Amino acid sequence: MSEQQSALFPTYARFPITMVKGEGSKLWDDQGNEYLDFASGIAVTNLGHTPKRVRDRLVEQLDQLWHVSNLFHIPNQEQLAQLLTANSFADAVFFCNSGAEANEAAIKLARRYNSKILGNDRYEVITFQTSFHGRTLATLTATGQDKVKEGFHPLPVGFVHAPYNDVEALKSFVTDKTCAIMLEFVQGEGGVIPATPEFVQEVVRLCDKHNLLLIADEIQTGIGRTGKLFAYEHYGVEPDIMTLAKGLGSGFPIGAMLGKAKLRDALSAGSHGTTFGGTPIATAAGIATLEQMLEEKLVDRAAEKGAYLQNQLKAKLAGNPLVKTVRGLGLLIGIECAQPVGEMVSAMHKQGLIVISAGPNVIRLLPNFLVTDEELNRGAEIISRVLAEQASVAGAS
Ligand SMILES: *Cc1c(COP(=O)(O)O)cnc(C)c1O
Repeated sequence: MSEQQSALFPTYARFPITMVKGEGSKLWDDQGNEYLDFASGIAVTNLGHTPKRVRDRLVEQLDQLWHVSNLFHIPNQEQLAQLLTANSFADAVFFCNSGAEANEAAIKLARRYNSKILGNDRYEVITFQTSFHGRTLATLTATGQDKVKEGFHPLPVGFVHAPYNDVEALKSFVTDKTCAIMLEFVQGEGGVIPATPEFVQEVVRLCDKHNLLLIADEIQTGIGRTGKLFAYEHYGVEPDIMTLAKGLGSGFPIGAMLGKAKLRDALSAGSHGTTFGGTPIATAAGIATLEQMLEEKLVDRAAEKGAYLQNQLKAKLAGNPLVKTVRGLGLLIGIECAQPVGEMVSAMHKQGLIVISAGPNVIRLLPNFLVTDEELNRGAEIISRVLAEQASVAGAS
């Protein structure tokens, strides 16, 4: 369908493909073409498409109860919150519907903890250049990329952007107004860039020294994606607040904001809420997703398959002049190229492999955790073939 005929706002530059069915690592379009999916709906379908256990749990819940409002107790919410707190640093959970909404809750909690519990007037949040935190007014302001802000001014006050992975620069951004530092342990949209251990240590040191809250945006990295259940575990540190969304419901929309016990009373009754947050259905999807991931040890599998894919790529792409680096953690992998990757991504789609970009020059790979070695080999083969073709085109011109 052309943009002229569409009744949708043209907010997305969509690929010319219409997917109609998915199963495991496979997708099919409306022309009957089959694809190998290395995008997983941007780190959402971590168990593959239409995973049976989540499906069965959802169908069961659909027959019981869909929605009651948060004016009542919701057992599935309690159960999912128990699962999340038992497997993380956190003691309390607030459920919402998206990543941006989880980050909004985190920003509100940081401000309110400072004003209501600590009794000060600090409100400023330090975030990082090339970060991504969402599309609401506060979260696009938190985002360290100008392109998401264009035309949306005036923006909320209270956000500053420090250079990412710059140990020296960071301390000069802390003022007597700072209440929190918000960090992606691996920048996803910004180009698959892991934080260096030294940088994370400096973030934690400054948080301790100035009594700042560390907010981990794990919306893309969380739920096993990096080969640990949460990416902060790679660094031997603990945040005070963490946000989740993408992989939490296997494709059913759900977001969550988690925090330490000392923050609990900052969000007293009536201080925050959302109609659809943690419905019986959304939390059923979350419970089934986490149960399968934990019982089948799929986080370890993500670590193992991620290392395997990175090795395959490094071997197959060695010597290709277009490829600058292959990097990432677990099954969040980026191939940084010497030029914009738009055409390469489209060429891979034509050869039956779904990948996406992260920033202009990085091809991002996000296979599901049940992906097989055979599928990883096939994907790596298509990637190396397309990049070899592109390199010879670039070399010839
Ligand atoms: C996707 C993403 C968000 C925004 O999540 P939405 O569900 O699209 O609002 C925020 N932070 C990070 C790190 C993300 O990857």
